[in-house]
Amino acid sequence: MLSSVLKALSCGAILVGLVSASQVTDGSEVTEAAQVPKRPNILFVFSDDHAPHAIGAYQGHLGFGQWLAGVDTTPQIDRLAAQGMIFTRSYCGNSICGPSRATIQTGKHSHANGYLQNGNRFNGDQVTFPKLLQKAGYTTAMIGKWHLQSDPQGFDYWDVLPGQGAYYNPKLIRADGTRVVEGHCTDIVTDLAVSWLDEAKSSDKPWMLMCQHKAPHRTWMPAARHLDLWADEDLPVPPTLFDKHEDNASGARTAEMSIERHMELFYDLFVGTKDGTVPKGGSALDGSGRRNLARMTPEQRAKWDAAFGPRNAAFHAANLEGDDLVRWMHQRYLKNYLRCIRGVDDSVGRLTKWLDDNGLAENTIVIYASDQGFYLGDHGWYDKRWMYEESMSMPFIVRWPGHVAPGTTNDALIQNIDYAPTFLDIAGAAIPEDIHGTSLLPVFGGETPEDWRDALYYRYYEFPGAHAVPKHYGVHTKDEKLMFFPELDAWEYYDLKADPDELQNLFHDPAKAGAIAKLGVRLGELRAQYGDK
Ligand code: CA
Repeated sequence: MLSSVLKALSCGAILVGLVSASQVTDGSEVTEAAQVPKRPNILFVFSDDHAPHAIGAYQGHLGFGQWLAGVDTTPQIDRLAAQGMIFTRSYCGNSICGPSRATIQTGKHSHANGYLQNGNRFNGDQVTFPKLLQKAGYTTAMIGKWHLQSDPQGFDYWDVLPGQGAYYNPKLIRADGTRVVEGHCTDIVTDLAVSWLDEAKSSDKPWMLMCQHKAPHRTWMPAARHLDLWADEDLPVPPTLFDKHEDNASGARTAEMSIERHMELFYDLFVGTKDGTVPKGGSALDGSGRRNLARMTPEQRAKWDAAFGPRNAAFHAANLEGDDLVRWMHQRYLKNYLRCIRGVDDSVGRLTKWLDDNGLAENTIVIYASDQGFYLGDHGWYDKRWMYEESMSMPFIVRWPGHVAPGTTNDALIQNIDYAPTFLDIAGAAIPEDIHGTSLLPVFGGETPEDWRDALYYRYYEFPGAHAVPKHYGVHTKDEKLMFFPELDAWEYYDLKADPDELQNLFHDPAKAGAIAKLGVRLGELRAQYGDK
């Protein structure tokens, strides 16, 4: 057994503790085996809809969304970034919650893992990275938002929210049944994660924990302690808040995700009627805003009303209209979104402190990511789905002492198909050949290999569907993007270097014809490479 360890070490494998001391029963080997470092633990902290431009550490490192600079959004995540590496060109392959998670489980694009759009049911019988980690000797856990409909597989322990989950006093489902836990969802998920870690630390096996938050998903309901953040100040306004999408294909003008035209005062922003009551019917949508308020305990509701009651009264008194009303709605939306993120940030702080307190910071790789980006009023929008930068981007921050240089940035093109092979590589497990992604371990070292990918594939399927974003697919290189909308028979091309906000669709610019033709070929090659039809 020891010889296999030494052989692996000589091959340059990463922290290969193929055996731990307790697994060696032959006393003569214990001393030598104990000197082999235990394979690293993996702490994957994942949130829902957290746009990278809403992370302080990303300010100054993205081409888009730099208007939030100076707002202290994420002190703990920023600290994690200062101790590790942020990826500035990190993207998903299908910008919507369930599909991004299915891709992370499998390392495959949506068409190959079968989870094309929200509402699909994930086929948990297929090969997933947690199953392979288990086989490689890891203890695995999934706590929080799962959102793949079928029961989690490949986890020694799972404790998940049903569907989207509730912000206040959420239901949680374990293999042994369902229960309601009182409190704010982000704190509860963190509590459960810490409890599981307390158990896992006594095992000799390395562990992998997916701690997945509902926040900051719509409808944005922060914890009581965050309700007063930024209450008395105006946050910055995106320069594209009043974008009319004149250059885009028609889908951007018919999509239903505009703060001005589609955001709802009650459902999204919890503004009641003038007398403070919930509007009759609650919402034209699914009424979940009303249901979520109804879940609160009297004490929770009293704190909520104490914060928003006077602000709502001031709103009604002001009788805002037109652009002023849009600006007010944007402020309420952005503040509640960032307040939900502050809860996630607290969670990152608690989890990293737990690692420090338990002497595990050195031998644990910590990754912070979110399932896709989000519009924070950029282009007048909220929500996600598009292949444009704000929604295709994913935050990806990695801390791994001794392997990732602190305070660094990396501009390699990475995608959520890469997470599964990366986790398997960390564990020293074989990566299945049919996985679409590539291990990021060579990139973590700071030098991007010369043959690293030059282009990413993207495809969005959910139409007709919520927010009416048309189906589209395309190719994204470091500096260019080509998108095709099959049902509109329309193309868009953006020069990201010259136009990071994607305001000038240059598809019909004769000067770009050569570049567009090349990208078209690249798109065809990617579709063939991944077997998409
Ligand atoms: Ca999401």
